[in-house]
Amino acid sequence: MRPKTNLNQANWPEPAAFCLKCTWLLMHMPRYIAALVITSFVLSGCTLARVATALAQSKSAFAPCTSDPRIMCEPGSETLAKRIVPLLPQAIDVVEKAQFSTFASPIIIYTYASRESFASHSGALAYADGAVSLGRLNLSPKLLSTPERTRGILTHELSHLNLQLQMGSIAWAHVPSWFHEGLATLVSDGGGAETVTSEDAAVALSQGKQFEPEGSQWLLFPKSASSYGLGPHMYYRQASLFVGFMRDSDPIAFEKMLRAIEAKTAFSQAIESSYHQNLAPIWMRFLSTASPLVPADGLRQSLNAIKEE
Ligand SMILES: [Zn+2]
Repeated sequence: MRPKTNLNQANWPEPAAFCLKCTWLLMHMPRYIAALVITSFVLSGCTLARVATALAQSKSAFAPCTSDPRIMCEPGSETLAKRIVPLLPQAIDVVEKAQFSTFASPIIIYTYASRESFASHSGALAYADGAVSLGRLNLSPKLLSTPERTRGILTHELSHLNLQLQMGSIAWAHVPSWFHEGLATLVSDGGGAETVTSEDAAVALSQGKQFEPEGSQWLLFPKSASSYGLGPHMYYRQASLFVGFMRDSDPIAFEKMLRAIEAKTAFSQAIESSYHQNLAPIWMRFLSTASPLVPADGLRQSLNAIKEE
């Protein structure tokens, strides 16, 4: 899912409402079309109409406008495209090293001249900064208003793209949202979570304002920040702290797990075969480790809440 800067929850879409309306349609679509729709939905939380519109959009007007042919520009998006060029090689390198995987297919990045065009071609909402859908990376001109975020957002989206190209759309969509958003935010050094610090996230965790690290994800009901009553930046920051804890507490297990996920091993199975335990004790250890950052009473409440579930 693309990072957002709008923290007003009243503006967010409700994925579950979409699913109830559209499950029948998905079931009656050709399998490959349904897969594409589901993938786009998982990424963006958009409506079926929006995704269907995106699928139907022609990109014939897009063409390279920089020295890097991987960047396809909509006429009018040249400024954004040129800002990407010097950042791209390092961003790719960062993602490939952090995720132990080169890109499985050629990278294609579309840059857009307007938020409306970005939304209609990508299936994302117009206030998003970027989105990966259908194996392509899309960047909104919204980034022009916050140029200091460009590197982080580009790297964040490349993280999603790398994993999706490795796994394929359906297997990728089964990976829980918290993991791939946490990974993307971690790899991009906070891209997409710029307005929430680690300390802010730790305090929220201590108060029970937190996501729940599910071990699987149902294709038709993917979780998002709003599933947990969190803003996107808080969700991404909390998730990145947890994924970072998984990596730093056992780097060998983390690499083994990520390679297993990329090889399409079921997410929960990849964790158990790498860490030799399931997610719950890892999550509880994470909360304990975060204790120096949070008030002790709040942490105890958080741990007790988990134990009671
Ligand atoms: Zn994302």
